Amino acid sequence: MRPISIYIHIPFCERHCAYCDFNVYTLKEPSDLPLRTVNAICSEVKRAALKLTSDVVVPTIFFGGGTPTYLSADELSKILQAVRDNFRVATDAEITSEANPGTSDADKFMHMHQQGFNRLSVGVQSFNNGLLKVLDRTHTAREANSALSAARSAGFKNISLDLMFRLPGQEMDQWEQSLQEAVQIQPQHISLYGLTLEPGTRFERLHAGGRLTLPDEETEAAMYESAIGMLQSAGYHHYEVSNFALPGFESRHNMVYWNNGEYLGFGPGAVSYIDGRRWKAERVPLRYIEKAARAANMAVEDETLPQHSALAETMMVGIRKLDGLSLYDLSARYSLDVETYYRHELAHLQSGGLITMQHGILKLTRRGLLVADLVAGEFMGRPSQGAV
Ligand code: SF4
Repeated sequence: MRPISIYIHIPFCERHCAYCDFNVYTLKEPSDLPLRTVNAICSEVKRAALKLTSDVVVPTIFFGGGTPTYLSADELSKILQAVRDNFRVATDAEITSEANPGTSDADKFMHMHQQGFNRLSVGVQSFNNGLLKVLDRTHTAREANSALSAARSAGFKNISLDLMFRLPGQEMDQWEQSLQEAVQIQPQHISLYGLTLEPGTRFERLHAGGRLTLPDEETEAAMYESAIGMLQSAGYHHYEVSNFALPGFESRHNMVYWNNGEYLGFGPGAVSYIDGRRWKAERVPLRYIEKAARAANMAVEDETLPQHSALAETMMVGIRKLDGLSLYDLSARYSLDVETYYRHELAHLQSGGLITMQHGILKLTRRGLLVADLVAGEFMGRPSQGAV
């Protein structure tokens, strides 16, 4: 069977957070747009399934956004049912939804769990109310705690929690306090994100105008290192640059991305990657709905990656896994000697103390972890020798 994962993008949020550049929309008034988007996603799911061969199995489904829990449990279940009706979903499939504490309650979680969602990824970001306000989040620390308890009471046994660091005005002790609170709650999985200033966001404009100060690089690195120490001591396995899990609870869906595996994306702006072709769906919900109704080509960006680009991307995302990348496996997958192909880049990174290579396994060093994006970017440079 050929595994193809599924991503569903729900592009609605209650409020647009100051740092976020995702494809999201806030609705000023009650509207049927979310429901119409749900219906369009369901018809796109059906249309995509018709184009695939029958040997496809779906090992993971991930509802992200935006805010999936902006939708009602019935609307979320309707999409999940459309996937089940049109694809062969593995019996042990990991079915995750992101959840925002501001749009979640016990009833919604209960209903979602009954419908087959078995993992929740809760966007807590911080347990500090002042920082949550700075970020424009719609919830408080207490509401985040209630959402996490509600998720447990609803029966979720696989809960992930997101935290952010390098926030404006954030002190080390505030960061460590948020980490401690997270550890006390004992979620199965924790993701950590350092704030980045994305073009077009309010934070970026404020920063450019000198009205937003972020912790410096040294503090950011210290926050990250402190988090690694605290989470590892609490029994979490650091398995990807930004991700930690209790044993056996690593995110199977995200592992598909880190292995540069195949997935289909549904919903406005969702990306798909199949057979070396990557395309992005129409971003604007109204246009998405209209194109779905006409069964028109949904792709607004569409490219088939040359072999050397696909290899470079696999290196870039794969190096983020703490277990490393097997150059033997990659050589077999891309039918070339990857070690020779990247010999200059590998030598450069090794001499800089950023990677190790043992028995064909390439890994980030502790120093490399701190600059993982730079290391990954090295593989996008000009290849050591001609095209693959
Ligand atoms: S809730 Fe999440 S997706 Fe929505 S605006 Fe905030 S950060 Fe972006």
